[in-house]
Amino acid sequence: MMRGRRRDPLLRLRARRRVWTYGAAAVVIVVVLAVLSVGPMLSGRADVRRASRDDLALQQVLDLRATFAEFQLYLLPQFTRLSTTATTFDPTDIAAGVKIVQTAVTQTAAATKSLSALGLRDDAAAISSASATFTKSLTALGALIGGRPLAVIANTLVAEQTRFTQARAVTADAATRLRALSQADAQRSIRELDNGRVVALVADACAAALAIGAALLLGRQLRRREYATRSNTKRRNYEATLQEALDMADTEIDAYTVVTKALRTSVPHLQVEMLVADSSGAHFHQTLHTTEPSQTDQRCGCDVVSPIDCPATRRGHTLVFPSSQELNACPHLAGRPSGELSAACVAISVTGRSSGVVHAMGPDGTPPNENDVRYLEITTRHASERIAMLRAFAKSETQARTDPLTGLWNRRSLENRVRELTRDATPYALAYGDLDHFKILNDTHGHEAGDQALRLFAKVLRDSVRPSDITARYGGEEFVIVLPDCPTETATKILERLREQLAVTLTSGRVPAFTVSFGVASSTDADTFDDIVAIADQALLTAKANGRNRVVVAVERADHSQPIPLA
Ligand code: GH3
Ligand code: MG
Ligand code: MG
Repeated sequence: MMRGRRRDPLLRLRARRRVWTYGAAAVVIVVVLAVLSVGPMLSGRADVRRASRDDLALQQVLDLRATFAEFQLYLLPQFTRLSTTATTFDPTDIAAGVKIVQTAVTQTAAATKSLSALGLRDDAAAISSASATFTKSLTALGALIGGRPLAVIANTLVAEQTRFTQARAVTADAATRLRALSQADAQRSIRELDNGRVVALVADACAAALAIGAALLLGRQLRRREYATRSNTKRRNYEATLQEALDMADTEIDAYTVVTKALRTSVPHLQVEMLVADSSGAHFHQTLHTTEPSQTDQRCGCDVVSPIDCPATRRGHTLVFPSSQELNACPHLAGRPSGELSAACVAISVTGRSSGVVHAMGPDGTPPNENDVRYLEITTRHASERIAMLRAFAKSETQARTDPLTGLWNRRSLENRVRELTRDATPYALAYGDLDHFKILNDTHGHEAGDQALRLFAKVLRDSVRPSDITARYGGEEFVIVLPDCPTETATKILERLREQLAVTLTSGRVPAFTVSFGVASSTDADTFDDIVAIADQALLTAKANGRNRVVVAVERADHSQPIPLA
């Protein structure tokens, strides 16, 4: 057994805390992975830079070698030709030689700087020295060319050739080392970048997974929130519609019809019945059930007979029973012809008093859910309020219409009811009753005994006539009984039986004995109600005069004027 559930605020708080924790963990993981991926990336980038510096230095050495090669391929044959065949030296060749020297000097400075920066200081020194010797001798050669004999120039050229070969060898070595260095750096940078890329890929994958997780979690939260909002709106609309419909129900029967319809709409999958205590408060009676006429065979309500036997009514709150087989299930669920079942029982409270139950039945093991229970509670609350209001109205209306001592109609409502009969042209017999010697009863036994006698007479009177007859206390110890569609002969018989019944009832001795006299008239005796009452009163006087404790019918005169009471 369990109580009707509500959404726990603690659960909401926990869910929110879970989202925050999840989000914070996601951020931390993404940051850590980002830091891990940055290391290899940075060192890969440094390696790339170093490799490009290697390449620059290599290019510079190669440029220097190209300059040497230019000397070898172009200038050297010129000098050779000069030393063998020519007699004069072409100034253009001299200018070209000077340019080569200048280029070689500039390129050597750049290459040695780059090599030193890369840590290849030996190569830098070797190139610097070889290049210096080479350019120095080349410059000297230029100076020689002017006036020296060609043979000397030729010898100098041979020496120059040797230095040139040395410089080429030195630059070749440096180029080989630079190539190896560049290759190593490039390979290392590729490796580092690959590592960085793998870590970044993992980080991206983790971040994506976390982002998807967070999106799903938030999405679920949003969906739940949206569902809750939609359910609330739907419930509020239902509540407003139900309230509107109940406001238009003028009687309890109308209210039950509205509630039946509302329950069929709000919890169509449940069989629901409403049991309400009768006026004594001791017995339940079924005021409604939602089973459609086509399903009447399957209907199986609760067998509880009184509010005190119903756990939900007794406790005054909702109880949900998941299965009638459970140890703590309501005993009234057991042994139903329809078999095992689940149930939700919502207590009905009318003007603060627990006085009924709305009993909803579902399949065994699948009890009405939280939403169902809320609809049942909303419906029950509004129905209870309306019923309480209708009862309060009815009570005050009854009080206004009836005599408080006897519960019979008072004079005003009697006149209203008779007006309806007159409007509908319904004929009736009218009896005017007066208790005999009532003053003596009062004087002898006291006013309280007199009141008891009046109450007892009212009960006997009510029990002796049909529900459609109108019984009223006309004043003091005088009563008027209107019997629609009843000839005066039949009315007389009824009143005689009433007198007998009064005598029998009084034999119990609880109330001092007394009798009653009646005068009877017919609605056809006069045109107005007052006149008919006056005719009956005349007949009553005759009854009194004739010894009391009897019924006298007024007899219609032949000339249709006032009827003459029978003696
Ligand atoms: P009769 O047989 O001629 O009608 O004699 P009677 O004594 O009944 O006539 P009367 O009209 O003189 O007396 C009516 C008495 O009814 C007077 C009053 O004390 C009594 N009475 C009227 N209303 C009440 C009431 O509400 N309670 C009680 N206890 N007595 C009432
Ligand atoms: Mg009287
Ligand atoms: Mg009297």
